[in-house]
Amino acid sequence: MIEPSKLTVTECINLIQDKEVSVTEITELFLERSKEINLKINSLITVCEDSAIKQAKEIDSNFEEYRNKPLLGVPISVKDVISTKNIKTTAGSKILNNYIPPYNAFVVDKLKDAGAIIISKSNCDEFAMGSSNETSFFGPCLNPWDLNTVPGGSSGGSAASVASSQSLISIGSDTGGSIRQPASLCGIVGMKPTYGSVSRAGLIAFGSSLDQIGPFAKNVHDCEKLFYSIAGHDPKDLTSSKKELKNHNDLSSLKGIRIGICNDISDQGISEGVKKAFNNSVDTMRSLGADIGEISIDYIKESLPVYYLTAPSEASSNLNRYDGIKYGFSDQNGKTSWETIGLTRSNFGEEVKRRILLGTFALSSGYYDEYYGKAQKIRGLIINSFNEAFKKFDLIISPTSPITAFEVGSQINDPLLMYQNDICTMPANIAGIPAISIPCGFSNELPVGLQIMGPNFSESKIFSVAKLIENSMNLNILEGVKV
Ligand code: GLN
Repeated sequence: MIEPSKLTVTECINLIQDKEVSVTEITELFLERSKEINLKINSLITVCEDSAIKQAKEIDSNFEEYRNKPLLGVPISVKDVISTKNIKTTAGSKILNNYIPPYNAFVVDKLKDAGAIIISKSNCDEFAMGSSNETSFFGPCLNPWDLNTVPGGSSGGSAASVASSQSLISIGSDTGGSIRQPASLCGIVGMKPTYGSVSRAGLIAFGSSLDQIGPFAKNVHDCEKLFYSIAGHDPKDLTSSKKELKNHNDLSSLKGIRIGICNDISDQGISEGVKKAFNNSVDTMRSLGADIGEISIDYIKESLPVYYLTAPSEASSNLNRYDGIKYGFSDQNGKTSWETIGLTRSNFGEEVKRRILLGTFALSSGYYDEYYGKAQKIRGLIINSFNEAFKKFDLIISPTSPITAFEVGSQINDPLLMYQNDICTMPANIAGIPAISIPCGFSNELPVGLQIMGPNFSESKIFSVAKLIENSMNLNILEGVKV
């Protein structure tokens, strides 16, 4: 009898390779579990029953061809901003409620090639705008640790589906923290890779210079495996890197690794409980031999304003395409095409409208230099400061989120308060650098995340260090999940 909540990716693959279980059986098991738990936490927008079974049977009947695939038969949920051919992809919005993409995102093809089974499309904030999964047209997703709280956002459904073992892994997107913050609030591992290391082709665009697809998993090893399965050059994404990613050997200690605590974001607005768990993880790193110091990164405190000019500006341009004429939802009550466009676009949710207004304003000719232009200049300064910081330290750490999972409804009517949730995660998107969140303890019985940032293309080092910390802290964290 396989217990989904106890299964890791490696164990799942071993069971399949040893023919203890077929891919179809594993898929059916996770489909059933997804359907059952989804009723309680609303983590999924679509359960891909037919296509998943079809994919599983294809693998079972051509087993030898697939035997050594890195994600053989592993059930995965995919955030609903990532295009899946012939499977509804909504971006959590009424505007794309019935949209069925005619192609797969590059990463989806990669996943299928790797033998993973796409069993569901996960709930998310509308067009990935939010930190609580409450802006979704399909209703909020709940945190499996405490059903009164949010799972974080915008990839809340992805994080919640992994934490509650509806799937073993997931992919999400991170523009300002949308993988790391929900990973932190749900007690799992999530990574935003280096900008350009994972193709964005087929990702429904939000803030294109910040957006990055990345992996979620229950542990660092599985997260690493998923990252290397989706990374790689794609000619369809002009920002896709050609750099060959090397998976280095695991470290046996942190001796010689210089780790900087980023004071600017590790101090302000961080709750006492989060601070305590974070400091505990610093002690662990020290005991593993790391050389720990403190670092201040110039201009990093400007990340929030820089983000809230850059992301909405790019969003206002990217979301222009939803006009009720080309595709997606259309309100046909208009007498002219302009009226159709206006009526259709009035169906965006509040938060999306706020971003479009903000972005359009910041890009307008009289204000461009003052707002968007200035934000880009400061973005350059933040990037330079990180480059300087990485001369002194190999990696930079902070808590992932200033607080643990908060109550549903407690922040949704206060956008400025909601925006503070990403204060620690946004700098990595602004600089384009990779950053992971791993569980590092609890506060009030809810999980706390540690963020580890590194220079561009340092994923392999981040994974090795994260694995050592994870091993040493030995939290067995998901035992506390309630569903
Ligand atoms: N919470 C941030 C926002 O609402 C980040 C979202 C994201 O990373 N997609 O913009």
